[in-house]
Amino acid sequence: MSKPCVFIISAPSGSGKSTLVNGLMEIDKRLRFSISYTTRQLRGKEKHGENYYFVSREAFEERIAAREFLEHAEVFGNYYGTHQSEIEFAEREGKDLLLDIDVQGAAQLKERIPDAVSIFVLAPSREILERRLRSRGEDSEEVVRRRLLKAADEIRNYNRYDYVLVNHEIADSVSTLVSIVRAERVKRIRVEDQIRPILAGFEKG
Ligand code: 5GP
Repeated sequence: MSKPCVFIISAPSGSGKSTLVNGLMEIDKRLRFSISYTTRQLRGKEKHGENYYFVSREAFEERIAAREFLEHAEVFGNYYGTHQSEIEFAEREGKDLLLDIDVQGAAQLKERIPDAVSIFVLAPSREILERRLRSRGEDSEEVVRRRLLKAADEIRNYNRYDYVLVNHEIADSVSTLVSIVRAERVKRIRVEDQIRPILAGFEKG
């Protein structure tokens, strides 16, 4: 079985990333969404084992010490990390892996898996991002301000990514993501394993 392709999506909160990820997953059934570990509290309708594995700080730190994470980072005072088993799960299912992780995690993952494909999503302007954050009504004024500061920090790192997608219009952005995923899958280095038997068939004479 060929090795899973790893796709990383990062975006400041309010960029519309979750909607895009859901849209992409809906269309591309060969993607497995990587479920991260986190120490933050459950929100709204979230479920353990579906959105995240929600664990205590102690449990998370034990896993860091045991080097179980492919990458991990502290975001807004909570730990988040991708467990190494996610790659094995994807491989077993014959799927590619899609990770929604922050800029720090994306940099760590690129170090470990250099041919991972990274995509940065951003809102068309600061005003639009701010409006989206406020209209969600999820955060206090203080948190909105913190998210905007973090967004500025993250956006400065856009040049570490392979692709940068300005999210003007959801349907358009989803179709761009679908195209990126499809094109990356047929890059020569990823299809060598499929080519060899085809070539061998021709060389039999
Ligand atoms: P939220 O708490 O809103 O679900 O996520 C906050 C931030 O943490 C988002 O930017 C998200 O991409 C990031 N994040 C989620 N899971 C991981 C992970 O496993 N590793 C890293 N580095 N960041 C993550």
